[in-house]
Amino acid sequence: LSKKAISQFRFFEKQMNRTIHEKIQMERELRKALESGEFELYYQPQIQLTTGQVVGMEALIRWNHPEKGMIPPNKFIPIAEETGLIIPINEWVMETACCQTKQLLDQYPFLSVSVNLSPYEFESRRLVYKLVKILEKTNLPPHCLDVEITERMTMDTEKAIPILKRLKLVGVTISIDDFGTGYSSLSYLKKLPIDRLKIDRSFVQNIQEEKEAVLPAIISLGHNIGVKVLAEGVETEQEVAYLKEKQCDEVQGYYYAKPLPYHDLVKFLEEHKK
Ligand code: C2E
Ligand code: CA
Ligand code: CA
Ligand code: CA
Repeated sequence: LSKKAISQFRFFEKQMNRTIHEKIQMERELRKALESGEFELYYQPQIQLTTGQVVGMEALIRWNHPEKGMIPPNKFIPIAEETGLIIPINEWVMETACCQTKQLLDQYPFLSVSVNLSPYEFESRRLVYKLVKILEKTNLPPHCLDVEITERMTMDTEKAIPILKRLKLVGVTISIDDFGTGYSSLSYLKKLPIDRLKIDRSFVQNIQEEKEAVLPAIISLGHNIGVKVLAEGVETEQEVAYLKEKQCDEVQGYYYAKPLPYHDLVKFLEEHKK
């Protein structure tokens, strides 16, 4: 080996150790975060377009790191998934979301809460068992809990359909998240026992260019298979008007509210009471 090759190798070795070290460090910190309650749930309201009523909210996790401040999910969910810590973390998410939503039901009986499932978790045999346990413990009616899975997670239909059917037996609703970014066909979608499509933000952002084609096509595709359609990442009044005209059922986005801490969600609900 040449001197250059050796020094290059050392360089990569160092880099690799650093990332492995960082991951181990992060794993340790994630465990500690769970134990010492550094996670918090934010909630983003979901609005029904025909009535303007708040019909639900998506629970989105935040990490209040004691030194580094607020860490967004994109920074730690991938490592949580790699290390398997996503399982206890999302268990905390589901229980907290169900518990906090239960407290709102007397005043807002139409409310439901959506939680995001990870691929690893979706395929876990214990998922249904855990969901049932959490619903019993928190006393939340199953139809008030919605689970979001990505389009990608349903691509292997032979694997996905039995899991989806078991979830339907529990009584929770199922939404397909980031819809439009995969390659679903109508015939394949029809086979899935789902309740709602959540159109990915990218389609709403490009409303100008794609106006004539993609958005209305996805909305009617959803309606054709008998599911509701929600548009994500709605930021402007113009987008709201357009989606209303195209008979999109629900919207979620900064135009109405950013993800809110629980207490701000309560205020938002009060202000938007119909
Ligand atoms: P997602 O499920 O697609 O969530 C929607 C993301 O879009 C959220 O980012 C939300 O804050 C953001 N968003 C909503 N409305 C708008 C808008 O009008 N404009 C723009 N620019 N952005 C908007 P967030 O909270 O950072 O979450 C990112 C991703 O992290 C989520 O994407 C989801 O995949 C994952 N995630 C969040 N919470 C959890 C969790 O509890 N468990 C799991 N497994 N994943 C989670
Ligand atoms: Ca989601
Ligand atoms: Ca999404
Ligand atoms: Ca996403």
